[in-house]
Amino acid sequence: MNRTQRIRLLARVAFFALFVLAPPLDLFRLDLTQGHFILFGMDWTLDLRDVPPMQAALNLVLRAFLPIAAVIGLGVWLSWKLGRVYCGWLCPHFSVVELINGLMRRASGRISLWQKTPPPEVQADGTRIHPRPWRWVWVVLAVGGFALLWAVTLLTYLLPPGEIWGNLASGTLTRNQALFIGVATMLFALEFTLARHLFCRFGCAVGLFQSLIWMANPRALVVGFDRAHAESCLDCDRSCEHACPMLLRPRRIKRHMFTCTQCQQCVQACERVNRPRGRHIPLQMVAGECARDVSERDFGRRPDVPADCFHRREQAPARVRPAGPPVTEEP
Ligand code: SF4
Ligand code: SF4
Repeated sequence: MNRTQRIRLLARVAFFALFVLAPPLDLFRLDLTQGHFILFGMDWTLDLRDVPPMQAALNLVLRAFLPIAAVIGLGVWLSWKLGRVYCGWLCPHFSVVELINGLMRRASGRISLWQKTPPPEVQADGTRIHPRPWRWVWVVLAVGGFALLWAVTLLTYLLPPGEIWGNLASGTLTRNQALFIGVATMLFALEFTLARHLFCRFGCAVGLFQSLIWMANPRALVVGFDRAHAESCLDCDRSCEHACPMLLRPRRIKRHMFTCTQCQQCVQACERVNRPRGRHIPLQMVAGECARDVSERDFGRRPDVPADCFHRREQAPARVRPAGPPVTEEP
């Protein structure tokens, strides 16, 4: 795992913990029993009753419009610059997607039940995964466990978390609470097993919103492919494609990468193929003018981009991997 992936893992774990703990710690939740939001331990109400009209209007602007506009503005700015960076670096759903991808690949050799061609067991980037059917136990446990955790967590965003977790622990959930958790767990389990990529691609409004804004900016951060050094790919087994959790082909133009989550797993795979051989790494993240080659190249168009887009990084000294089987086992 390179430095980028270590930082990304830390960010995802921290955000997942925040997602689960925000209601019990009263950081953020909507309490339906009280009829208002709770933010950092304080009641967040519009306070429109029994106040003069001017005060009510001011409250509405300061406590509703401005916070909402600030969140949307930050989201638009991040998506404009970095695309679906929230999906790849923070989203608790995508963290489950990646985890189940990895477990499924260890059990069946494929990262999804719908993947037609499985990636090779031994890859050019050093990944070696021999599928073992008994590992389906881990897939089932992860799907069931995360589906239940998601269902309970969602309920704690709406009802007092102490009551929900307490009732769950003591087995005294009310009929409606048990019904909500039971149905939501079943739906999440189905989605995690059968449709987790589909949801990320087309079902999630947050993801769609980020992708649409990202597509409008030809200079946004994107995975770039150095065509001048495409010879590095000749004896490679498309390790970048096998590493992509969204089942994309990272060497293609931006239009075909609409759902890219900026996770940079493909770039890491390419580094692992080429760095030990002392070769140029053709897949790198690019932005600004350099990104236009991916964003605008289409239907015969070839935008002029700076010549040094892919030479700014220091190459590691040549270090040839010793002969023999690859040693790592990770998707
Ligand atoms: S194309 Fe690369 S950065 Fe985009 S989702 Fe796939 S692996 Fe991640
Ligand atoms: S871009 Fe890198 S990982 Fe992808 S096929 Fe070429 S050498 Fe292999």
